[in-house]
Amino acid sequence: MEGPAESLFDVRDILEERKSHIMIKDSGCGGGIRCEKETIAGSISQRACVYCGARVVLNPITDAVHLVHGPIGCASYTWDLRGSLTSGSSLFRNSFSTDLREKDVIFGGEKKLAAAIDEIVAQYTPTPRLVFVYATCVVGVIGDDIEAVCRKKEAQHGIRVIPVKSSGFVGAKPMGYKLACAALLELMGDAPREKRPGVNILGDYNHGGEIWIIEGYLRKIGVEVVARVTGDASCERLMQAPSATLNIVECSGSMAYLSQQMEKRFGIPALKVRFIGFNDIKTSLVQIAERLGGGALVEKALALVAAEEAHVGPIIAEYRARLVGKTAAVCVGGAYKAIAMIRLLKEFGVRPVLIGTQHGSAEDYAIIRDFSVDGAVIINDTSPSEIEKYVREYKPDLFVGNVKERTLALKMGVPFVDFNHDRKYPLTTYEGMINFIKELDVTSNSPVWKWARTELTE
Ligand code: SF4
Repeated sequence: MEGPAESLFDVRDILEERKSHIMIKDSGCGGGIRCEKETIAGSISQRACVYCGARVVLNPITDAVHLVHGPIGCASYTWDLRGSLTSGSSLFRNSFSTDLREKDVIFGGEKKLAAAIDEIVAQYTPTPRLVFVYATCVVGVIGDDIEAVCRKKEAQHGIRVIPVKSSGFVGAKPMGYKLACAALLELMGDAPREKRPGVNILGDYNHGGEIWIIEGYLRKIGVEVVARVTGDASCERLMQAPSATLNIVECSGSMAYLSQQMEKRFGIPALKVRFIGFNDIKTSLVQIAERLGGGALVEKALALVAAEEAHVGPIIAEYRARLVGKTAAVCVGGAYKAIAMIRLLKEFGVRPVLIGTQHGSAEDYAIIRDFSVDGAVIINDTSPSEIEKYVREYKPDLFVGNVKERTLALKMGVPFVDFNHDRKYPLTTYEGMINFIKELDVTSNSPVWKWARTELTE
């Protein structure tokens, strides 16, 4: 890649302590990157809090009450920020909060929490079977015993009331994922279950109905889905999850703890899958078929892939022709998403030259490095100023990112394409590929950018 030579070691605008969190592929920097560390003071991280991490994972459980024990501000994180879709209950789209005030902080919020659970049970028919109680920062500080309140209310109402000790300060967002996984394990229990051939889909949150499309593929090749975790999930089906024979894991960042524990407790092996891009969809479907017996299942998977590719291929080729040779900045939350996006963009003929993530393991970054083009800059725990610096240097033709990067990209005059959980249309699956390549084309090839490019990118 023809990257600007001075960018390789020109990190004068970067905080000294941040330099080891940034690597340029093949820059001779040893190939490693510092990661899985706390944010460095002075760097404006894009990371969200522990409570947010827990909420992302659990909120798509459609028939659960998600009760935020804390000040009302924490409850601003609502369904519509992560609009997962439902085929059943819409209870999860409601916001519940104990709305803690100054008096509660002084005298404790346990009574308010107990009263809130009673009120919810009294007001909703049918009675919700499951309530998640999320602890926020202030609850961790004042020390409310939410476990005791949850136990008492479970016994009183005969429903599941599960505490999620997600005070914002107990770690970073991945800690929230882990706590959410622990809550799911509590819901599943640890009693051995009779096995039935089928898979659990872990880490798809059904944005734009993606999980239904994936389930359709699996059904066509003869694979049953036992439980969805957690897009379009229900209490009943989640409790059946231990009877599955295979966990297929889409978002491995959020589901790592759950898949490890389910293997340990219920003997369910895990298979990482990616339903994004021709290569990864094919590999994933064939591997699922092989793990569940092979033979006819694999033949059916290959037949499905051939039929879909024959249909989708010409459409993709048409748009691809208008994208080939462009460069892209990719900034996402989890490293696993970055890997999927790099691979997809490369299939579309687009070269990702700037890759930023909020979280990732050393293993994830090694994969990102291997899949990246030479000269690409890779950043762990990106900050807006670092993004700006490298956008100025690399001048990508388009920017694929989250809502946090949207304004920055647009102000710099870089065409922006959304890759976030508030998408209304599928991104993964063959159908999603068509949506996405159309978005890349109309966005990056719009004539408006001739006038919108600013002195920042010139
Ligand atoms: S839990 Fe803490 S960090 Fe998270 S939104 Fe609430 S107050 Fe903010």
